[in-house]
Amino acid sequence: MTEITKIPNSLEEYWMPFTANRDFKANPRLITGAKGMYYTTHRGDKVLDASAGLFCVAAGHGRKEIAEAVHKALTELDYCPPFQYAHPMSFELSRRLAALTPGDLNHIFYGNSGSEAVDSALKIALAYHRAKGEGQRTRLVGRELAYHGVNFGGLTVAGLVNNKRVFGPGLPGALHLRHTRLPEHKFVQGQPETGAELADDLQRMVDLHGADTIAACIVEPIAGSVGSLVPPKGYLQRLREICTQHDIVLIFDEVICGFGRTGKQFAADSFGVVPDMITMAKALTNGVVPMGAVACSDSIHETITGAAPEQAIELFHGYTYSAHPLACAAALAALDVYAEDDLFARAAALAPSWQDAIHSLKGRANVIDIRDIGLMGAVELEPRDGAPGARGFDVYMKCFETGLLVRQTGDTIAMSPPLIISEAQIGELFDILGAAITATD
Ligand code: PLP
Repeated sequence: MTEITKIPNSLEEYWMPFTANRDFKANPRLITGAKGMYYTTHRGDKVLDASAGLFCVAAGHGRKEIAEAVHKALTELDYCPPFQYAHPMSFELSRRLAALTPGDLNHIFYGNSGSEAVDSALKIALAYHRAKGEGQRTRLVGRELAYHGVNFGGLTVAGLVNNKRVFGPGLPGALHLRHTRLPEHKFVQGQPETGAELADDLQRMVDLHGADTIAACIVEPIAGSVGSLVPPKGYLQRLREICTQHDIVLIFDEVICGFGRTGKQFAADSFGVVPDMITMAKALTNGVVPMGAVACSDSIHETITGAAPEQAIELFHGYTYSAHPLACAAALAALDVYAEDDLFARAAALAPSWQDAIHSLKGRANVIDIRDIGLMGAVELEPRDGAPGARGFDVYMKCFETGLLVRQTGDTIAMSPPLIISEAQIGELFDILGAAITATD
């Protein structure tokens, strides 16, 4: 067996994703353990996890119940081919997810990541229109500043320039709504009052291109990667109305904001809008085993399955590891933990303290915006002249050195802690972040 030492023999061969590799390897930040709200570094330091890993560890680290469920699955059924075979846990998980998602989103399709969930959802939308004789609907609508993972479908509808610019034009015909970050939203607590009319961009696309060319519109209810961009009041409702009127499939990408992050099961529940599909991943398994999924409406599922002849495969799509037994076991155990610990209600109860704490950073040097909702939030810093992202990186590094793990995107510090965080730890988190901001010029 290969022995993994705490100090690796070489840092060269691992090409790290979304990482400044040369900088990291000159000053490595190795994580060697995690329990509850804290990581341990290779130096033995404890680091408070302010971003639930990458927004995935909703129930905190090292949950014994989940580990035991995964271990049991591993010893009983290590793998099951998902094409033309299935194992019982995949049905039980789907039943549980269908019950958890809003409306009639009762049919669950699995992949291994948020990116795969997004690309699956886009393909299902195309297949849906094709099945009802409208195969000419191929345009996909996304939004500026969106992140929908890194595969070509998600990249096409996403709206973050650094992720897109070197990878070509993506799928043909894609359109982008304007983002909803308005100047008057600065330092607004929770949902902004203004900006719902930005959803009318979709109507303009219908007027310009014809509804019968548009397959789907995908949005993150709260744009997470760019730093908790909260939708204006009425915005998602307006998108819903336009989509319903023109039979455009509305997809909510809840890879970050699902599973209690907003204080309810899904952001769709918090905002009272039921889309036609929800993509999820991350906290689906508490981050323990990779898994992504799409919850689809009855009508999308029935249209696609009904259009295929008996005994024929209805959707030519899927992954070798769709509904992997270990991932299903982890997800079922995670859902149990969320319910037993009442974590979604806990997030809702903590949200006011979180809001007060994050907005207490207003007035610190270089803080130009603060946004929050539920147990999510972001602090945006003034970029340095000619060096966008440099100040954000320095604050992020200072946080890590002083015991706090946050997510940095450009000059924005994004946070969304495990939902088990205590009031005292919320205080600890913002004390460290505030000090790091003050200490950074
Ligand atoms: N969609 C959204 C909204 C995300 O935030 C992410 C990842 O952060 C993804 C999709 C991609 O997920 P993954 O990294 O698991 O592919």
